Amino acid sequence: MTMNTFKQPRAVQIGGSGRTRTLTIGGSAPVSIQTMWKAPLSADSLNTVAKTLTELEMLGCDIVRFAVPDHHSADLLVALAKMTDMPLVADIHFDHTLALRCLDGNIAKIRINPGNIGSTSNVRAVVEKAQDTNVAIRIGVNTGSLPADLRARVESVPADDPQHTTVRADALVEAAAREVAVFDSLGFKPVVVSMKASSVKETVFCNERFAQKYDIPLHLGVTEAGPLIAGVVKSTLAFSQLFSLGIGSTVRVSLSDTIENEVLAARAILSECGKRPGGVTIVSCPRCGRDGFDVHGFVSRWQKELLSLDKTITVAVMGCVVNGPGEGKHADIGITGAGDSILIFRHGKIVRKEIIGSDTAATDRAFREELQKL
Ligand code: SF4
Repeated sequence: MTMNTFKQPRAVQIGGSGRTRTLTIGGSAPVSIQTMWKAPLSADSLNTVAKTLTELEMLGCDIVRFAVPDHHSADLLVALAKMTDMPLVADIHFDHTLALRCLDGNIAKIRINPGNIGSTSNVRAVVEKAQDTNVAIRIGVNTGSLPADLRARVESVPADDPQHTTVRADALVEAAAREVAVFDSLGFKPVVVSMKASSVKETVFCNERFAQKYDIPLHLGVTEAGPLIAGVVKSTLAFSQLFSLGIGSTVRVSLSDTIENEVLAARAILSECGKRPGGVTIVSCPRCGRDGFDVHGFVSRWQKELLSLDKTITVAVMGCVVNGPGEGKHADIGITGAGDSILIFRHGKIVRKEIIGSDTAATDRAFREELQKL
């Protein structure tokens, strides 16, 4: 299979029009990072949520999705959208009137699962309103909510049958294709599609198959991917295979973990796959019996702040003076320690040495001063 087999995704614009900053998904735009808010909204939480959205944006997050299970949640999301520049997505199931409310309230994008939104007339009502308000829609299908006939087809193949994965992946593609046909018949083009399975194989299969037929931007994600380590491994495997084929315009790393870690994981995957050049890269050693510096403590104290910097630099955090400056030679700035001293180096050359004992505040102060010189 070659890259030429796959359609180039068309560009879909979200936000703008007095809503939030404008973001392009697909076309020649970089792959965008999405995450999903992990708790119900409440009136009391909106200020805190808005502040967190700003922090997520600084970490590289482009879009945040919110569950909208009822009209109260829809009203809160509309209120939140007025407090942030982050494009927000309303995630709607079952009740299309929630989508209509969010569309009236200038939400940047709607995600619906047409399979559970009811009759075609409900879908049509949402699409017509989205057309009027110039809002994009993501069609999200997943293996847990396939139409009955496709579910029966999948269930007819035993889970241990070698064909099971392919049949499930094909069912996801067919479910998405049916919904795309409805949107096409209504002349609605600003569509993004996601087909989410909980296995890497199925995720890769269904996205490959879809991209052979459609130029619709794909939102990638492995659903129910698990806790931090398992989730990152699955997402990395799936995204890297698809990226190598030129597939994927936006991603979410789903984790049973914090929203920040979802964004950091997506950012790291995109960076390693060459999909988000620039920004801060942190290289840090794992530590060993030679170490003389608390690498892990320093990285956990500094990670968010470093990754939020608007600079393209490499920062090395190394455990010992024996190998640290040498192994971190390519870094624009690095830090290591020996006994009661810390050493800060640039491109392998030591530029500062301070005796600080175990004073982490003094370590951070010295590092910050050198960082500001870059
Ligand atoms: S930099 Fe030093 S402490 Fe870190 S892994 Fe290498 S040898 Fe061990």
